[in-house]
Amino acid sequence: MLNIDNFNFRDKKALIRVDYNVPLDETFQITDTTRIDATFITINKILYDGGSVILMSHLGRPKGGPEEKFSLKHIVPYLSAKLNRTVLFADDCIGESAINMAAGLKPGDVLLLENLRFYKEEEKGDEDFARKLSGLGDVYVNDAFGTAHRPHASTAIIAKFFPNNKMFGYLMASEVSNLNKVLTDAKHPFTAILGGAKVSGKIEIINHLMDKVDNLIVGGGMMFTFIKALGGEVGNSLVEEELLDLSRNIVEGAKMMGVNFYLPVDAVIADAFSNDANVKSANAYDIPDPWMGLDIGPSSCQKFDHVIQKSATILWNGPMGVFEMDHFEEGTKFIAHSVAQATENGAFSLVGGGDSVAALHKFELTDKVSYVSTGGGAMLEFIEGKELPGVKAIED
Ligand code: AMP
Repeated sequence: MLNIDNFNFRDKKALIRVDYNVPLDETFQITDTTRIDATFITINKILYDGGSVILMSHLGRPKGGPEEKFSLKHIVPYLSAKLNRTVLFADDCIGESAINMAAGLKPGDVLLLENLRFYKEEEKGDEDFARKLSGLGDVYVNDAFGTAHRPHASTAIIAKFFPNNKMFGYLMASEVSNLNKVLTDAKHPFTAILGGAKVSGKIEIINHLMDKVDNLIVGGGMMFTFIKALGGEVGNSLVEEELLDLSRNIVEGAKMMGVNFYLPVDAVIADAFSNDANVKSANAYDIPDPWMGLDIGPSSCQKFDHVIQKSATILWNGPMGVFEMDHFEEGTKFIAHSVAQATENGAFSLVGGGDSVAALHKFELTDKVSYVSTGGGAMLEFIEGKELPGVKAIED
């Protein structure tokens, strides 16, 4: 498999699949440039080598034809400013104008193609559409980890037209290698911390991690389904009744496999799902109606911290409570600091999933963990053990 670091792009036209699906305001200004900024390392390497760059991406969810609000032309001024050159724009991602503009590129030139999803063929994984895109470049670079779980024309199918000339960009390569480091090469003790709203969203992750981890810590809304399954009273807390049996089986399965399964012992409870509700602490197994648990309590934090500090590898996905509301942020904040502390002491920590990443931002700890995955859905599928079409297409 080719490695971007060793590849010389001199006089090559690199066709890069990026994820420029960024939020725009009403005046089409970009409100969060993180995803764009993350691609500069790959683009600059190619330009520095003496190659040219053709960028392709989707933006939003167009209905299958061009729409002003989803045009990638809104990205051009920012790209030009950041790359310090005039970025060219093809107002159709395939067809004569794109072919001519790509053919005319000289070393150092950057061309951005219009939104791929203006063609329904993109999401259908249409081979002919992929072939047309492939004709624009000499080398295919996939740097869009966020869409790697989709078998789309530009993320997966296109790779077959570059059997010997395809590779990951830096962003994608580091996502894949850091996730593999945790899933296939973890140092022990390995602790997974899972939180978030529901058990249903995490079952496949739990199943896939069960034979890998030494410790499984569960917090967030999902803890109450487990606690109820084990005979606790959880009042009005979030419970998935249909998953009680399964949750009991998970706890039993963990015991059989020698995995330490840690649940909170106390909770911060409220009489309404609101930051203005009355709040008190309670035994997590004895929550009276109509109160509901919205965060883990201080004893649980201490208990979890003890496990986290002894871990060599930590995977964290999902907040411990409703951290978006100040009265229920303490548990998530404490665990974020605990993971940061363990990292400082030498553990490898990987944090991923939209809400945990947002929590790290909120508590200003993003730089204090080993790796933050921005992959969203793709990251979740990866830790569920699924093969991602965008990754497989390059690795094959
Ligand atoms: P998820 O997308 O499944 O990771 O869930 C994240 C969401 O779970 C966040 O928006 C949290 O506010 C929410 N959450 C965390 N703890 C609880 C809880 N105890 N009850 C209800 N929602 C929670």
